[in-house]
Amino acid sequence: MQALVYHGPGAKQWESKPDPKLERPTDAVVRIETATICGTDLHILKGDVPSCAEGRTLGHEAIGTVVETGDAVENVRPGDRVLVSCISACGRCTYCREGMYGQCQSGGGWILGHLVDGTQAELARIPFADNSLYPMPEGLSDEQVLFLSDILPTGYEVGVRNGNVRPGDVVAVVGAGPVGLAAMLTARLYGPSRIVAIDQADSRLEKARSEFGADVAVNNAAEDPVEAVMELTGGLGADVAVEAVGVPATFELCTDLVRPGGRVANVGVHGHPATLHLERLWIRNVTITTGLVDTYSTPTLLRLVAEGRLDPSPFATHRFAMDEILDAYQVFADAAKTNALKMVLTSS
Ligand SMILES: [Zn+2]
Ligand SMILES: [Zn+2]
Repeated sequence: MQALVYHGPGAKQWESKPDPKLERPTDAVVRIETATICGTDLHILKGDVPSCAEGRTLGHEAIGTVVETGDAVENVRPGDRVLVSCISACGRCTYCREGMYGQCQSGGGWILGHLVDGTQAELARIPFADNSLYPMPEGLSDEQVLFLSDILPTGYEVGVRNGNVRPGDVVAVVGAGPVGLAAMLTARLYGPSRIVAIDQADSRLEKARSEFGADVAVNNAAEDPVEAVMELTGGLGADVAVEAVGVPATFELCTDLVRPGGRVANVGVHGHPATLHLERLWIRNVTITTGLVDTYSTPTLLRLVAEGRLDPSPFATHRFAMDEILDAYQVFADAAKTNALKMVLTSS
């Protein structure tokens, strides 16, 4: 088969590799039909994720058809079309039993395209298939469902649910990339009074407003976002501030945007320490949450998409054949120029 293989920082190749085989009775092998690229894949390629070994097939988001299942797999059968979750879950360890699948202790968690070969390939072995694959709902297109592999549950669980968004809240989302936009789209489910999108790219802010449910856009390269949010809230601050960038400045900005009693939900992947201004925050009853996605919400999100309550298809901005994946990486990595959100890669 062909696969996108990581060869150390800065190096990747679409190349031929042996077909994956069942290794454990809980595995399934899936023929990948639609896949996408994640910002995390770019982090790996920069060398930011040393736990990802050279020779690894990248990718943790896909839709495909099951071709083979191990003896212990009961929920899916060869021929089933499935959504592959970015999180694999043994379903039995302490964390899995608490629904914290991202922290699975028995070899699950975020392993695809990281610790085991991933989904940017013609075939992928999916460990713990019963808990890591979801049958595709009838009548939905791949583009409606694909982004439930990762960014939708990430924005929803780590941003909206951890941030405890409630009806009437003012929700400020710092960062209008795919995950920030996913937080805006799913925050709408809770009836906030205002969603404020904060980013330095006008093109992303425009998308946030026109397609992802933001009410107000603030370009923090041009205006002071704290002033803007204070003005919108009569000087109180945001009820919830979602950090969806992953750099110290944006985390610190969130702690300045939030009102006393409010919540800061960190979603961004951080590579450097940020300053926590406890000398200002200690008196403000602020809750700060962190998290890796668990994908406990995937069934709920699938139902909302199937019922027409949630439409993630605007994330698809560029389409490629699977064997054009190197071009897709280039367009995705150059998002500032290409206005890319998510690439849709389809096998022929
Ligand atoms: Zn991802
Ligand atoms: Zn587990």
